[in-house]
Amino acid sequence: MASPALLMRVVASAYSVAEKAATIVRNVMSAGDLGIVEKAGPNDLQTEADRLVQMSICASLARKFPKVTIIGEEELPTDDVTEDLIEDGHCEEILKKPCPAQYTGIKEEELVIWVDPLDGTKEYTEGLLDHVTVLIGIAYGGKAIAGVINQPYYNYEAGANAVLGRTIWGVLGMGAFGFQLTEAPAGKHIVVTTRSHSSALVNECITALNPDQVIRVGGAGNKIIQLIEGKASAYVFASPGCKKWDTCAPEAILHAVGGKITDIRGNSFQYNKEVKHMNSAGVLATLRNYDYYASRIPNTVKESLVP
Ligand code: AMP
Ligand code: MG
Ligand code: MG
Repeated sequence: MASPALLMRVVASAYSVAEKAATIVRNVMSAGDLGIVEKAGPNDLQTEADRLVQMSICASLARKFPKVTIIGEEELPTDDVTEDLIEDGHCEEILKKPCPAQYTGIKEEELVIWVDPLDGTKEYTEGLLDHVTVLIGIAYGGKAIAGVINQPYYNYEAGANAVLGRTIWGVLGMGAFGFQLTEAPAGKHIVVTTRSHSSALVNECITALNPDQVIRVGGAGNKIIQLIEGKASAYVFASPGCKKWDTCAPEAILHAVGGKITDIRGNSFQYNKEVKHMNSAGVLATLRNYDYYASRIPNTVKESLVP
């Protein structure tokens, strides 16, 4: 049999690298010293887990795929990564699956990997552990085409017999795996949004949608999980703040199951390596009924957000 396509090898490796990352996230927490550093301010934090995971993911993937562009959230030295942080395994199940035909010819230098080593850092420091995810998004031709989301503390309140943590992955044209795809209750409008980065505009936008319920949780990865598991019908964030590493893996997985994510004005995100990191015009995402929500975003809100 011919050797698996590059894309499938990258996804299979990213799966194992994300599982190693989850172990690091749990180990830093149980060791008890988070080593919190403020980046832009008190709502923009970095912990020892963010640092170690970023080094682990970026160094592990760069070693296997040296010509791929890898962009991680944290600004850290890429040399002197210790050997114990390197993961060289891959998920055999993923390698066995056929690569969608349109992606079989992709070369290393054509891929861009966007890494959020720990999404939901604020919530991690506050003990809201299942809000935390590790995000590895894979882009080609400026589009998010594959992604891995690891949730290190999935099931952490489900008792000692439950398996802790899970890995969700997906490829456009193939689907997404590692969870049970569920639609939100029909006819009910449940909006999920930020809990730690709210603003007057964020709230104004949600109020205009007149939702039946608003869920405030941390993490872009976590909010996409709420959509694909039917807990919420729309992710609405009318503010700058999310970056390309927050949306790339979630976008690939959401699109792989037929959902849609754009900025608040309806523009799709680009993920080529030269792109601006900030998603300045916010986020609007749904699994179904995108048009319902998009058509109800007030023009005043759209005009306040410049892409
Ligand atoms: P949230 O929904 O608040 O958890 O935000 C989702 C992602 O975007 C997280 O990675 C946040 O750190 C990031 N983010 C959103 N708003 C801001 C902000 N105002 N400053 C820094 N990061 C932000
Ligand atoms: Mg993040
Ligand atoms: Mg992060």
